Amino acid sequence: MAEQRPCPARGALANGRARGLQRRGDTQGPSCGARAAGVTLWTMPELPDVELYREALARRVLGAKLEELRIGQPFLLRTVDPKPAELVGRTVRELRRVGKRIAFGFEGELWLVIHLMIAGRLHWADAGAKPPGRKPLVALRFSTGLLTLTEAGSKRRASLHVLRGDAALAAHDPGGIEPLETDLASFARALRQANHTLKRSLTDPRLLSGIGNAYSDEILHRARLSPITMTQKLTDAEIERLFAATRAVLVEWLERFRAQTGDAFPEGVTAFRPEMAVHGKYRKPCPVCGSPVQRIVYAENETNYCATCQTNGRLLADRALSRLLKSDWPRTLEEMEALRSR
Ligand SMILES: [Zn+2]
Repeated sequence: MAEQRPCPARGALANGRARGLQRRGDTQGPSCGARAAGVTLWTMPELPDVELYREALARRVLGAKLEELRIGQPFLLRTVDPKPAELVGRTVRELRRVGKRIAFGFEGELWLVIHLMIAGRLHWADAGAKPPGRKPLVALRFSTGLLTLTEAGSKRRASLHVLRGDAALAAHDPGGIEPLETDLASFARALRQANHTLKRSLTDPRLLSGIGNAYSDEILHRARLSPITMTQKLTDAEIERLFAATRAVLVEWLERFRAQTGDAFPEGVTAFRPEMAVHGKYRKPCPVCGSPVQRIVYAENETNYCATCQTNGRLLADRALSRLLKSDWPRTLEEMEALRSR
């Protein structure tokens, strides 16, 4: 299991303002220099990661019966009715990805929904195989094998919900459109319905499903668009380019993961991958133009971009932005937007 540490580089970059550093805890952004020292920093699984889990689980538990369910940490369960025990003895009929969640559909219209959040990871042991030694937050013993959920670090954020009926499941869906299933018109409508920075809109689960900090960086780099462009200023051609980039990046990663994982269960899922173009690549050369990858830092994570490819060479932490930000660095994209609109 990877160790989590504060990032010294991050604190230095924020002009000595370590205000947010203590709070960051185990939610370090992916570009932290500590990674170079061999420390894995967890980031939230996004659409390709969760979809990979869903596919691997479908191959193992569809049609299998849940024989035992053991919850190791009571806080994990966020619902009181139906009782988890009601799932025992039922067969899995369906597996869905709901945003960044995985939903197990049991016979009798019962759903078990797992949200891994940042540090939650799933593990599988075939029936008869030795289960993993670490103490799981939940263990689900199916007729085909044992599924366990663990969470790295000390923050308990992963969650489990047991729901009755499709309507209850739908209430857990933040409502964003599925980027790989939607068309250009719906994509454009979703982005233009409010005027936010592109980075914020792409990662808003109420607008788009399953895209977080890592893949939004990759998508914006592919589309050659600035993360702080306001969505209502996008031209039709830019939206079209963004739509194509979104689909291309997500499909490429899904296919890469499928090829890397094969029939195995995806262990060690993390949103940071060395093959990424800009995400987690601060100061590394952009694979398109060779310029050093830049970053915008806020409390819980950071945005990576290439100034040459995406912002006409303009550094987003340049003097104009610095003047706006002189009171403090923004902690969130919302704060950054508020600062910029002053
Ligand atoms: Zn570039």
